[in-house]
Amino acid sequence: MQALKYARASSVDEAVQMLRDGGPNAKVLAGGTDIIVLARERRRKVELFVDIKHIAEVMALEYDATKGLTVGSATPLYRVYNDANILKHFPALTQSAHVIGGTAIQGRASLGGNLANSGPAGDSITAMMALNGTALIAGPGGRREVKIDEFCTGPGQNVLQAGEFIVSLHFPHPAAHSGSAWERFIPRNEMDIAVANSGTYLVLDGDVVTEARIALGAVGPKVFMVPVDSLVGKPLTDETIAAAGQAAKATATPIDDMRGSIKQRLHLSDILTQRTIRAAAERARA
Ligand SMILES: Cc1cc2nc3c(=O)[nH]c(=O)nc-3n(C[C@H](O)[C@H](O)[C@H](O)COP(=O)(O)OP(=O)(O)OC[C@H]3O[C@@H](n4cnc5c(N)ncnc54)[C@H](O)[C@@H]3O)c2cc1C
Repeated sequence: MQALKYARASSVDEAVQMLRDGGPNAKVLAGGTDIIVLARERRRKVELFVDIKHIAEVMALEYDATKGLTVGSATPLYRVYNDANILKHFPALTQSAHVIGGTAIQGRASLGGNLANSGPAGDSITAMMALNGTALIAGPGGRREVKIDEFCTGPGQNVLQAGEFIVSLHFPHPAAHSGSAWERFIPRNEMDIAVANSGTYLVLDGDVVTEARIALGAVGPKVFMVPVDSLVGKPLTDETIAAAGQAAKATATPIDDMRGSIKQRLHLSDILTQRTIRAAAERARA
């Protein structure tokens, strides 16, 4: 472990000040499930940890039937997947939060940390993209909002500027007759990085899809949205679902690595997309 300083921020402004004063090697500490491992292995240079977990706004979890859902960026995952309102209205988020790491990891790890990592396989990111989430960011220039589907710019890269951090994540309330679902494929039962993952949100008017948001992970240099032209405005049938799967496969640009081959990942892009569409539709009809 490298020698480093620790500072506890008690407000958003104080955290911004600490990050600005600390320079490029001042890092936000949320759950620490990633950054502490990286610092200990000297894979990330850290001189100062700015602990944001004592800021009320950053640890919030608020649901409102009109305003939607706001989750503090450092709110631990166990609070997310144990929340009845999230399970009822944002099940894709529950599903993704529930599989990140194991119980110990979930006691600390956060959605904000998963997003800020910006890994191509980050499990909660595709759920948050499908649910049309927005990240509230604070920094030296004040506050700004960024759509989560525009947050990640490359492997481990994102739109955060020097001194900025994610305060919270906001999700609009789902429409009537909508449903969401999330799935991933891993070769083991748990504690592994996704070979592919997919999150879907859709709205139905009878059998016709009026809105669809499909996100894919681990099958490209960053998480991305799948074109939905083959679904929206059309009846949800085996054919239109298959066409959406093909659109996902056509958009994926996976690599071969120790977890999976290009061929397997292209297949999974298709299959997971079809599965999450079917599961989201089932919830929309329920
Ligand atoms: C055993 C194990 C299993 C894991 N399994 C999975 C898995 O199945 N799926 C998966 O996706 N990930 C997995 N991870 C990775 C990790 O647990 C998740 O990415 C987690 O969500 C990170 O959250 P955290 O709060 O611990 O982040 P931290 O470790 O605190 O931070 C991660 C990074 O984000 C930055 N950061 C944190 N919060 C903010 C913020 N609010 N604003 C700006 N920057 C911020 C930090 O500076 C750091 O660079 C696993 C890790 C371990 C150790």
